[in-house]
Amino acid sequence: MAKYFGTNGIRAKLDVITPEFVSRMSFAFGVWCKRGKVILARDTRVSGPMLHHSALAGLISAGCDVIDLGVSPAPTVELMVKKLKADGGITITASHNPPEWNALKFVDKNSVAVSWERGEEVERIFEDPNVPRAEWNKLGKATEYKLAIDDHIAEILANVDTKPIKTKRPFIVLDCANGTGSLLAPTLFRKLGCKILTLNAQPDGFFPGHNSEPTPENLADLIASVKATGADMGIAWDGDCDRVIFIDEKGNYIIGDKSYALSVEIALSESREKKPKVVTTVATSDTIKDITRKHGGELIYTKVGGPYLAEEQIRCKAVSGGEEAGGVIWPALSPGKDGFATAAKILGHVCRTGKPLSRQINSLPHYYNSKTRIYCSAEQKFAVIEKLKLEPLEKGAESLTLDGLRVNSKEGWVILRPSGTEHLIRIFAEAKTPKKAKALMEKYERKVRELLK
Ligand code: MG
Repeated sequence: MAKYFGTNGIRAKLDVITPEFVSRMSFAFGVWCKRGKVILARDTRVSGPMLHHSALAGLISAGCDVIDLGVSPAPTVELMVKKLKADGGITITASHNPPEWNALKFVDKNSVAVSWERGEEVERIFEDPNVPRAEWNKLGKATEYKLAIDDHIAEILANVDTKPIKTKRPFIVLDCANGTGSLLAPTLFRKLGCKILTLNAQPDGFFPGHNSEPTPENLADLIASVKATGADMGIAWDGDCDRVIFIDEKGNYIIGDKSYALSVEIALSESREKKPKVVTTVATSDTIKDITRKHGGELIYTKVGGPYLAEEQIRCKAVSGGEEAGGVIWPALSPGKDGFATAAKILGHVCRTGKPLSRQINSLPHYYNSKTRIYCSAEQKFAVIEKLKLEPLEKGAESLTLDGLRVNSKEGWVILRPSGTEHLIRIFAEAKTPKKAKALMEKYERKVRELLK
């Protein structure tokens, strides 16, 4: 089992993510990439420059030629790996974590994030003292590439129908959270034809505006700005900009699974395929199932985590991929989640249909959910779910065991998963009414508590 890799890269505080560690891990990744061409970038965190230099040194010592994007969003790296035909990419970013954290996010030559299963191979090289550094005359070269953000903007503009936006000239408030979004979002939205007001649009690794997790609390200023100015929409990104959160024209915070559902609706209505495929995680709302069914498409489930979505999107050539926290894949750009493309696509759809965001969201299929967490020992969190998998299902129910246990039944569906970071089991149930969702959750809570006795 991987020692350092989590679901999507290596994320920790600076006692683990030391310059020495980053240098060695980047060397190992460079070897894993066959000592080829690697794209490197970082977010705006204070520790970014220090770790960036370490990663650069590690990659060069592996013999990799490095294309250095400097401060850039993670989706920009994923796009550039594809565009510049690189063998891999590293983004130094801790996504939505507080400023004292940092992380390494790795993608392979197809821009697919490296899961912890594949991360094991990188760690084997990391641990092996016999893997040689490049000889002095085979060391890699580093080249700065300053046009990545411009290229990313151009690519999004080429994939969005900008005419309705330019005609309507909507007024949008952008909250860039002092992160890498500051470098791309204001230009993108001006070029799309919007009038904009920006908040926290100066890169600053202390995150003076608010922490980079786009929660309703952290976005209080954005919500107030949308209300005060009568804007058509507010938009905010997390720290690495793979996820995006919307505020509707009334100042309501739209949860990520709703904007994700709207993105699937857009992708499917734009698709010309007879039976378009959609990939999503096994923990995603049935809203996605309903939308996919409405368009005659096929829904394919994956384990929870960006790398699995990306792997599956490529494998089955899905027209859309994503997960409930508001991360959406637009395959024309890359198999990575792209918060800017999602924002531009949703804005384009709102302008084209003339229906404000609140109405778009309200017209989506709606479900209710109920969730809880049950603390237990590290062994129990796996053992209980394994035992539950063996229990007979009620009539008409079906189970999915891709990641934890999901049971689809007439009452709704429920998923039980061991936490990846804490000693607990999470239970999440969804149904057509709040009462049914609660009853379903409680039924499985009782089963778990019984098995823990
Ligand atoms: Mg993120």
